[in-house]
This record gives sequence, C-alpha cells and structure tokens, in this order.
Amino acid sequence: MNDKAFILNFKNQVKNTIQKYKLASKKDKILVAISGGKDSTTTLYLLKKFGYNVEALHIDLLMGKWSKQNLKNVKEFCKTNKIKLHIFSIRDEIGYSICYVKSVVQQKTKLRQCTICGIIRRNIINKKAREIRATKLATGHNLDDEAQTVIMNWMKGNPQLSINMGPVTGTIHDKKFVTRIKPLYFCREKDIRKYSELMKFPVLYQRCPCVFSATRHEIRNKLDELEKKNPNIKDNIVKNFLAIQPRLRKQESKGNLIYCDVCGEPSRNKTCNMCKIMGNIKK
Ligand code: AMP
Ligand code: ZN
Repeated sequence: MNDKAFILNFKNQVKNTIQKYKLASKKDKILVAISGGKDSTTTLYLLKKFGYNVEALHIDLLMGKWSKQNLKNVKEFCKTNKIKLHIFSIRDEIGYSICYVKSVVQQKTKLRQCTICGIIRRNIINKKAREIRATKLATGHNLDDEAQTVIMNWMKGNPQLSINMGPVTGTIHDKKFVTRIKPLYFCREKDIRKYSELMKFPVLYQRCPCVFSATRHEIRNKLDELEKKNPNIKDNIVKNFLAIQPRLRKQESKGNLIYCDVCGEPSRNKTCNMCKIMGNIKK
C-alpha cells in the first residue's frame, strides 16, 4: 500500500470506529486530553479534521526536559491547527510535582508508578472537562494498549476491572463524570506511528522516562512477538473481550458509583483513589 492509500485507510478506520460505536456527534463539545505523544495528537487531529467541535487539554507533569518538549509540541500543534488549548500545571492542581507524589506514595503503598500517575491524571482531566462543559472526553488509547490491559486484568483474576474499557465508557452515567471515548481503539500502535510520521506531527516518540511497568512491558513484547505468527492476535483479544463485556456490565450493580466523602468526586469507594493518594502525602 502506498503512503496516500495508507493515510486514507487509517482515517477511514478511525471514522468507522466513531460511527459504529456512536462515539460522538457534531453537537458534542469534545475535550481531547493530549500528552504530546503520537496517539493523542493523532486523535485530536482527526476529530478536528472530521469536523467535530474540539478543544485540547494538556497537563504539564513537570518532568524536566521531557515535559518541556511536550508542552512546546502541544502548543505548536494547537496553534497550527487553530485548536483552543487548556494547559494546567500539575503543581497548581495538586501542590506537588508528579515525581514527588510518586516517590512518597510508592514508599507507603503497593501502588505502581503508572497507576499513581494515571489516577491523578484521570481525576484532573475529568474535573477540567466538567468545568469547561465538555460532553465527551477523548484519549489516545489504541489497540495495543487495550489488548495489554485486557490481559493484565485477567491475570489479576478480576475481569470486573475491565468493565469501563471499550471504545466508550458505558456503565457510568453521572452528572459529575464526563463520558470517555477512544477513537483510535482499533488502530495498531505501529500504524499510528506511521501515520503521525507521514503527517509530520511535532511529537515525541519516546515513552515517558519516569514510569516503567515490568508486566505491561513483558506483555507488550510477547504480543508483538506472537503477532508475527498471528497478525490478528491483538484484534482477537480485544474483539473477544468486547463480545463478553456486556455480560460483565450486566453484573455490575447500578448503585456502585458514589461520591467521595473527602472531595465529592464520583468514586466506587467511600474515599476516592485520588484522595487516598493525597492522604498518603499529607500524613
Ligand atoms: P497513558 O496512560 O500514558 O497511556 O495515556 C493515556 C491517555 O491519557 C493519552 O492517550 C492521552 O489522551 C492522555 N494523557 C496522557 N498524558 C497526558 C497529559 N500529560 N496531559 C493530558 N492528557 C494526557
Ligand atoms: Zn476524593
């Protein structure tokens, strides 16, 4: 396939996902969470190109040179593409740098670095999406991420952890929770990279320098290896998961979502994970 055909094919794949799973309508105000990487930048670019009403949000994680370059890139990208960009610094939002939080919390709990960072990012992103009255929140998650997460959750012996995965969050209907969508859900990471390179997006291709999940890394490598023998392996894992997900969702009790007794944000527990993390720092 030549480059032109690849670009067209890639765009159509994303368009089909949006249509098939009814991820968004032209009435939606979509906030795209962008890290400065290829996946979220591609998500933002295509949603804008397809004519959706999009704005972007970037959290400056204040992780040295890496964060500075990401910030520069997202500013440049949004300026070029005339997209309104909301920037928030992690220190203004939680009072500390992300590396500080991770080092303190890791010593006191068993949480992994990526888990801590993910909880904090999701909390801030949801709050900001609500504040700017976004009706959808888009992220750059791709097929590789999803296949790895399905396997990781099964390995933890808890398929219920996967309940809110899928191209769109389905079980949480709450005025404080903005629906999350993943337009690149069926796109392979290597194809996103190729698309982003062909489009010459100003992005960093290195992974976050701070975090390293050994299990995810092993699963990623194994799936990449197995994919050489079975090119559909990642699609099969994800499609199989989507086929059983309605059953998992049915089992979920409707009353599971409550409000955190500390901050009032939607939570599955009395105290939300964000407040548990912050509590460990203040102790
Ligand atoms: P990750 O957990 O790093 O795989 O990121 C998942 C998604 O979260 C990305 O595809 C982005 O949409 C979003 N994201 C990650 N980092 C940031 C950031 N610093 N600011 C805004 N959104 C982010
Ligand atoms: Zn809370």
